[in-house]
Amino acid sequence: MSADIIRKPTGGVKIRPHLTDYAAECRNFSWAAARAAIDGLPDGGLNIAYEAIDRHVQTGRGAHIALRWLDKQGAAHDFSYFRLRELTNRFANVLTDLGVGRGDAVFALMGRIPALYLSALGTLKNGSVFCPMFSAFGPEPIHQRMSIGQARVLVTTAALYARKVVGLRASLPDLAHVLIADLDAHAPAPEGTQNLQTLMAQASDTFTIAATQPEDLALLHFTSGTTGRPKGAMHVHEAVIAHQATAGYALDLRPEDVFWCTADPGWVTGTSYGIVAPLVIGATMLVDEQEFDAERWYRTLQNEGVTVWYTAPTAIRMMMKLGAERVRQYRYPDLRFMASVGEPLNSEAVIWSNAAFGMPFHDNWWQTETGGIMIANFAACDVKPGSMGRPLPGIEAAIANLDEAGRLVFVTEPGEQGQLVLRTPWPSMFRGYLNEEARYRKCFIDDWYLTGDLARRDEDGYFWFVGRADDVIKTSGHLIGPFEVEDVLMEHPAVAEAGVIGKPDPVAMEIVKAFVALKPGVKADEALRMALLAHARKRLGAVVAPKEIDFLPALPKTRSGKIMRRLLKARELGLPEGDTSTLEENA
Ligand code: ATP
Ligand code: MG
Repeated sequence: MSADIIRKPTGGVKIRPHLTDYAAECRNFSWAAARAAIDGLPDGGLNIAYEAIDRHVQTGRGAHIALRWLDKQGAAHDFSYFRLRELTNRFANVLTDLGVGRGDAVFALMGRIPALYLSALGTLKNGSVFCPMFSAFGPEPIHQRMSIGQARVLVTTAALYARKVVGLRASLPDLAHVLIADLDAHAPAPEGTQNLQTLMAQASDTFTIAATQPEDLALLHFTSGTTGRPKGAMHVHEAVIAHQATAGYALDLRPEDVFWCTADPGWVTGTSYGIVAPLVIGATMLVDEQEFDAERWYRTLQNEGVTVWYTAPTAIRMMMKLGAERVRQYRYPDLRFMASVGEPLNSEAVIWSNAAFGMPFHDNWWQTETGGIMIANFAACDVKPGSMGRPLPGIEAAIANLDEAGRLVFVTEPGEQGQLVLRTPWPSMFRGYLNEEARYRKCFIDDWYLTGDLARRDEDGYFWFVGRADDVIKTSGHLIGPFEVEDVLMEHPAVAEAGVIGKPDPVAMEIVKAFVALKPGVKADEALRMALLAHARKRLGAVVAPKEIDFLPALPKTRSGKIMRRLLKARELGLPEGDTSTLEENA
């Protein structure tokens, strides 16, 4: 937390960023005005897909590239807004022709191929509910999600169907249609499925978008499963108002941008900001079918002229591991803004990126439940490395604790820690956990939403992530957030990743224990362990510094790359690991 502030220039920039007067924007903002900035359907109603596609065609921007898709070989395929309108109309007609209607659940299981994007937006046009699943899920998490969500339709590929779905059919009674997306229009589809390309080719390319209302269900998103079984968060069409507003404020996005969100649509970031937000803004969104590869990413940033880039700490840690020299082998004259989400972004990563790319990653914070970015470091504002930034206009965030009677007691002292709470409502707020009404209700006290994360707010109004309430460590009467310990361990040049837990202890209740993965070529030995312990003690003091450090080849992570501290803890205690459906196979 001690790192120097990264100051932003006050003049001489090519494009004037959003929020140059943060305080005034916050004062003047209203969600009603943001709502008024959205067109809405010509005959009334609000539909995310109309805002994302058709209205741009209506306003004469149909020829602009909406989607630039890079296939596995790296070849680019462009889809204009006009073309996207036509293809999503065809998809919506396919659903209608199959008798799939308003509120029916359409699931997707495929890699980042164009059909995924067409299915998402075509489903919304049809007034059905879209639920994306990460293509690397095995049969169990697929089954779990599709049965909780009562999937009526599944769009997938031939290979994924054969490998993961065919054996589940008998136990998914609601699943009426399986559409195979990657076959030639003339190829026969596997038994019990239909060829999506054939159906699309036969369908009309005009469609009257369902006149959905703001409160109609649009998207079902499962949480990442970092702390336990994933929850199905329900989102409505009104969320598009927040997608539009937050894309401008937190990502500084404009219609001329080439925007690259590296998250897979299987996670909420990959849908809210990997599909909806850039299209609503009218930008060009870049999609890469390939998984992370540092070299390819640098080349893509350079060759595709990416202007705004949104990625995650897990990728940033991997780039850091390979070193800044690799970054500098390419040039990024178009790149204007870089942001990160999903996990705490260590101050070290912010400082590193500022040196390597000539601009820092801007950390921002939100959850599947919030549907959109809530707290962010803004393009126009100074960055405090290690802080997740300040609330967006329209978002009121506070730090509070619960008293014995279960009431909220707000923390007013800067720097004091407590739970991060948000004042309801905002348009993209989730409207429930599917089939878990009691759990949903427990998230609210009065008109505040309890995030389950611990944080601090400093005297300048910047928020600092402390840890998840479940992960907080209680040691000798102190409460310690794992993040501050991890942050300090990450400063050490030998460390690539760190995960910190509380290990039960008869005297102290818990002791701080760290798990560390080292950079390539660094030897894990006793001398290094001592050096790391000494470094942490010097930076954190004896109470907060870890008492034990174990070396691991890699830390267990969710498929979206988040460190799973609950598995480190289970491992430490020799316990069964519980639900590991979101776990990375190779971790
Ligand atoms: P589950 O709720 O199933 O355990 P999850 O909380 O990881 O999984 P998501 O909704 O994908 O599921 O993640 C949101 C959480 O990720 C936040 O509550 C927070 O703990 C963490 N997070 C997201 N962004 C940041 C950030 N910038 N800094 C710190 N933590 C972050
Ligand atoms: Mg969560």
